[in-house]
Amino acid sequence: MRRYDVVVVGGGAAGFTAALTARMLYPELSVLMITRSDKIPIACALPYAIAGNRPLEDYLMPYNYASMLGVEILVDEVVGVDTENRVVKTRNGVEVSFGNLIIATGSKPEAYKVEGVELQGVYVLGKDYDKLAELRKV
Ligand SMILES: Cc1cc2nc3c(=O)[nH]c(=O)nc-3n(C[C@H](O)[C@H](O)[C@H](O)COP(=O)(O)OP(=O)(O)OC[C@H]3O[C@@H](n4cnc5c(N)ncnc54)[C@H](O)[C@@H]3O)c2cc1C
Repeated sequence: MRRYDVVVVGGGAAGFTAALTARMLYPELSVLMITRSDKIPIACALPYAIAGNRPLEDYLMPYNYASMLGVEILVDEVVGVDTENRVVKTRNGVEVSFGNLIIATGSKPEAYKVEGVELQGVYVLGKDYDKLAELRKV
């Protein structure tokens, strides 16, 4: 089983920044960031991504920058943490051992429970790339 000094769960603004900062301040540490997707929109930029003319790729978390700094990236979903043995488990069956664990799993938007929210043409602004791409086509 592979061991990392730091494992970060979640590749949003918090997880990305934590992983990057760990590598920048302590380049001797091995850092793994586990993210559900390699295309995570920058949440603050969602309004610009919807309204703008630039490719959606311009509004994604710059994971290539993290890779350049030596952060390893695993695209997968963490489904369990064994704190006693310091192991995280992913949906695809990967097990990784950690020295330190940072959980940065963020939040999910919730639709208002108002009449008509289920109608075609009413969108809930999510943080995932596919939803964003769908919304941009409207
Ligand atoms: C429209 C909008 C505008 C904003 N504007 C600003 C602004 O101008 N300035 C500002 O400071 N803030 C702004 N914010 C807030 C800011 O974007 C959020 O505070 C920030 O994105 C939170 O980052 P996070 O990493 O904590 O969470 P998230 O962005 O929710 O990221 C968490 C990530 O973890 C992943 N994840 C969850 N569970 C797992 C798991 N089990 N395994 C693997 N991955 C997992 C999720 O898929 C997600 O990618 C804005 C937010 C929005 C929505």
